[in-house]
Amino acid sequence: MTEGRAHFLVEPWSLTEVGIDLAALGVNESVFALANGHIGMRGTLDEGEPVVVPGTYLNGFFEERPLPYAEAGYGFPEQGQTVVNVTDGKLVRLLVGDTPLDLQYGDIISHRRTLDLRNGLLRRSTEWRSPSGRQVKVTSTRLVSLTRRSIAAIEYQVECTDDQGDLYIALQSDLLANEVRNTAATDDPRAASAMNRPLASDLHVGRGRHAVLVHQTKRSRLRMAAGMDHEVDVPDSASEDLETSPDLARYTLAARLPAGSKVRLVKYLAYGWSSRRSAAAVRDQVEGALATAKLAGWTRLVREQRELLDRHWDEADVEIEGDDELQQAVRVGMFHVLQAGLRAERQPIPAKGLTGDGYDGHTFWDTETYVLPVLTYTVPAAARDALLWRHSTLDLARERARVLGHDGAAFPWRTIRGEETSGYWPAGTAAFHINADIADAVSRYVAATEDQEFDRDYGTELLVETARLWASLGHFDDGRGFRIDGVTGPDEYDAIVDNNVYTNLMAQRNLREAVAAVDRQPETAGRLLVSRDEVELWTRAADAMRIPFNEVLGVHEQSEGFTHHEEWDFAGTDPDKYPLLLHFPYFDIYRKQVVKQADLVMALHLRGDAFTPEQKIADFAYYEARTVRDSSLSAAQQAVVAAETGHLQLAHDYWGEAALTDLQNLHGNSGHGLHIASLAGGWTVAVAGFGGMRDHGGQLTFAPRLPPRVRRLAFRVVFRGRCLAVTVTGQRATYRLVYGDEPLEIGHHGKLFTVSHEPTELEIPAAPPVEPVRQPPHAAPRRRNRPTSD
Ligand code: BGC
Repeated sequence: MTEGRAHFLVEPWSLTEVGIDLAALGVNESVFALANGHIGMRGTLDEGEPVVVPGTYLNGFFEERPLPYAEAGYGFPEQGQTVVNVTDGKLVRLLVGDTPLDLQYGDIISHRRTLDLRNGLLRRSTEWRSPSGRQVKVTSTRLVSLTRRSIAAIEYQVECTDDQGDLYIALQSDLLANEVRNTAATDDPRAASAMNRPLASDLHVGRGRHAVLVHQTKRSRLRMAAGMDHEVDVPDSASEDLETSPDLARYTLAARLPAGSKVRLVKYLAYGWSSRRSAAAVRDQVEGALATAKLAGWTRLVREQRELLDRHWDEADVEIEGDDELQQAVRVGMFHVLQAGLRAERQPIPAKGLTGDGYDGHTFWDTETYVLPVLTYTVPAAARDALLWRHSTLDLARERARVLGHDGAAFPWRTIRGEETSGYWPAGTAAFHINADIADAVSRYVAATEDQEFDRDYGTELLVETARLWASLGHFDDGRGFRIDGVTGPDEYDAIVDNNVYTNLMAQRNLREAVAAVDRQPETAGRLLVSRDEVELWTRAADAMRIPFNEVLGVHEQSEGFTHHEEWDFAGTDPDKYPLLLHFPYFDIYRKQVVKQADLVMALHLRGDAFTPEQKIADFAYYEARTVRDSSLSAAQQAVVAAETGHLQLAHDYWGEAALTDLQNLHGNSGHGLHIASLAGGWTVAVAGFGGMRDHGGQLTFAPRLPPRVRRLAFRVVFRGRCLAVTVTGQRATYRLVYGDEPLEIGHHGKLFTVSHEPTELEIPAAPPVEPVRQPPHAAPRRRNRPTSD
């Protein structure tokens, strides 16, 4: 994989690369990816090469592969699932005279690509001189429709910009299946498994400027169709041709371009897939979608995209004054979160969204814990859809719980369709906290939307089945509480532990929320055969939940005994030995006090209602000194708790690490796809960190406080049919309802008040003094104290 550091212009509403940096090609393919939750297209060049990972994905479309074990064991998943690079419709190859346009040859006079966050478009403009001296300007605009989930489109224009007379060009617009990927195999477990020609042809049809290819995966037996149609504007004589074969459909347009004239091609693309429908039915579905997209036309597709995004930014924008780079990064991150989830519609939201095949395209707890809070408060319908997908996998989760010998449902640590596909159980199956994370997302969604129908038909069932799991996983230890032993918390450097505080506190909330849901939805509880004894057990288990605390040190133990483990030898660990997981045996990592990612610190945020302010300060300092941030999921959580405990500059520094993860390729693997959870964290730090928003028990409270460099922070959240605008400056916060009829009670620094359409302006109490905290060597975030241009 080619990895490098990409450079972008700092702009508020777009992301522009100027010139081409071949070392950053893979990263930029991820960063410039377009998606709508159903279709994902990496930001490859239209001509297809140079390329690192070509990448076109359909959410939920995967191939199975065996998961071989050197030493098998009971309950080990036997089948893996890997997202498939489906038929590539992004390709528009250009022949200039007799030379293909390829930016590795000839002269690049100018090249610029822009991801436009308000219009939802990827624009590209390249002026290029071929090795034989002919000069063209190519402009293209790509969109993956946010309003029509099966549609993508490309406008591609070529202009002759030299004065050497007529130029002959040929455009070859392709649908290409089973694309060859020429990247070397890697040992990085976070990369995707290699698959050779995963698609078998079902049929290929074409006429005029229109073609469809239908394929099926060989093992998972999923069927997909990709279709294309074209509109062309040519200045002069032109000839056209269409050919189809099992893995390639090609529309060719040859044209003569007098100097200064232009050819314009609009390519409409449609994608669909199904596990049940016939090849003819999937083809017809795609042809129908293509016909309507073409009827709507390019201009209308572009307009719809803008209108949808105008509405979105109106309800969701985060404004930051004082750090332009973060202003841009937070919006880029939010845009990618929207792209990952908006039209997922009962398919999972993968850790990489649809921007790459890293982690094999799997979904983890990242969705419920990082992405859904953002969607719940900005696009609640998308959060609902994601939870409906989880609900649709309940039978598989119930079956998994049975295999593991437990009650209720055990959701998979990583999956595409719903089966557990983690081949490493200590950091997979044992990470049972995912069940409480799902329950937490359900409770948050229900509290934030008051969606009764969801609560009755889906939410309650998810809460009940996960509560049943906890009740059977844990046990009462005479007089010493309810224990949950032998599980793995968020910190994957500490596996198979007893009483992980995060897990236990989240399970406690899960149990209590299940009790409340049974009360709210007696009919559903009846259908699920919830007994009085069960409810009584959940209440007792929650009340007696064991939370280990080291009285001598005055801090919580991340898990029982953690604070007694040997310290990691940070001084003796060279900077190139990070991430530790690639350089040390897990055996050694597990025995020591070294933390991969926020774990206890996440509990301080998500279960902040279970800690005193003094405990938060002491716990944060203790774990800060042991957290190496080998996961991109850590920085945002550390930022939120740093802000709450008064470390405002540190929180700002971590904000940079979270929001810039991919724009600066901070983990060196953004070419595998974006770190969607970390990008979601950019929003979280703004809203939960510096805005201090918490939603314990469904009550919205704020405790805003800005870091020195940020002069003003403004954000909006959607809550119970209202949109609430919060604006924070150094000394004051202003709250106002943008829409929604009923006033709403919310909190500001510990005091409840009612917010309405009239702005309420409140003082921000001075921050308490803080003791400095320290991080392990090489783990401190970079300082963000340079003033920016504004
Ligand atoms: C993290 C997990 C996360 C996964 C996918 C791992 O490195 O430790 O918490 O779910 O990446 O993002």
